[in-house]
Amino acid sequence: MALKQPASMDECIYFSNRSMGNGKAMAWVFRKDCPKCGAKMGKPIEKGKVKIRADYYECPKCKFKEDKKEHEESLTMSIIYTCPECNNQGETTTQYKRKAWKGVQAYVFECGKCNAKLGITKKLKEPKK
Ligand SMILES: [Zn+2]
Ligand SMILES: [Zn+2]
Repeated sequence: MALKQPASMDECIYFSNRSMGNGKAMAWVFRKDCPKCGAKMGKPIEKGKVKIRADYYECPKCKFKEDKKEHEESLTMSIIYTCPECNNQGETTTQYKRKAWKGVQAYVFECGKCNAKLGITKKLKEPKK
């Protein structure tokens, strides 16, 4: 399996490169193609500024809108990781949706070798010990 990697951050609605204990992970989510016209969707832009906190995504071309939650949960996150448990280097995908993991919300995926449940948390949020 070879994951398609983004050529630039502009192609992604999420990008993260972080350490996970003794391991690390690079994760990204590509922008979604507008179901109406095929353009890349993103957060709405108003007067040249991206409305980061908007609760919907919008197609810049035809203005098709989709609810934030619905939009994000339909997307797939790609992950290249080094497992902190077994040191395996692998690639995988998971749903772009935070789930409960070790007491915090995280994007959860499984190591393909040792099956450890691994989580990508929000920045500065460490799992509870
Ligand atoms: Zn469109
Ligand atoms: Zn592992």
